[in-house]
Amino acid sequence: MITLSNVSKIYPNGSEGVKDISLHIDKGEFVFFVGSSGSGKSTMIKLLLKELDPTEGTIVINNMITNEISRGQISKLRRNLGVVFQDFRLLPNKTVYENVAFAMQVIEAPSKQIRRNVPAVLSLVGLAKKARSYPNQLSGGEQQRTALARAIVNNPPILIADEPTGNLDPETAGDIMHLLDDINKRGTTIVMATHAKDIVDAMQKRVVTLQDGHITRDIKKGGYSDEA
Ligand code: ADP
Ligand code: MG
Repeated sequence: MITLSNVSKIYPNGSEGVKDISLHIDKGEFVFFVGSSGSGKSTMIKLLLKELDPTEGTIVINNMITNEISRGQISKLRRNLGVVFQDFRLLPNKTVYENVAFAMQVIEAPSKQIRRNVPAVLSLVGLAKKARSYPNQLSGGEQQRTALARAIVNNPPILIADEPTGNLDPETAGDIMHLLDDINKRGTTIVMATHAKDIVDAMQKRVVTLQDGHITRDIKKGGYSDEA
């Protein structure tokens, strides 16, 4: 589903984002990218989203070689990817319902389908009662659940999240992780960058550790680090 082969990203100023990364992620996996600040987690996420292109190597996502696709094919690639960020990135002048519906309007989904799918996904994330609220009327956890609803409303096979719990208190972060686990169990592949040790230890999923842009550890099921 996702294959990186000898991928490096050197920024124009010479900073090494990631170096010689080879990694395969199967359909249905739940994978954490962990590591300290500056280890290359966000660079990996941006490469997967094609916000950045590798300076070397190839990235294949759902049979598309992302560094070779045309502009026209980028939208096709993006339809395979739902995205959630630390800072939610909701549209402030749209309600919860409208924020989620907008993601469907962008891909020109029929309005009948929008009217059916948006309430369904809002129920899934526990926000049915907040459909008419604006982002500034929501708690951080509710804003992130809205962002999560928006990310999955078009049913992408892959969900990518960069520090999605970074702005949330531990309990709210736990709620978001439960939702991500549910979404994964429904078949969505999840790739999540985080430095939240407690969360990674609790989830017991695949953990890929980055250090100075290199993969130093990749375990099928485990916690943040090697101690017990
Ligand atoms: P993380 O998300 O793990 O904190 P990043 O992927 O953001 O790490 O950063 C990895 C390395 O790449 C760091 O050394 C960082 O300084 C560098 N880097 C990240 N973004 C840029 C950028 N836009 N320009 C130059 N260097 C960058
Ligand atoms: Mg980061």
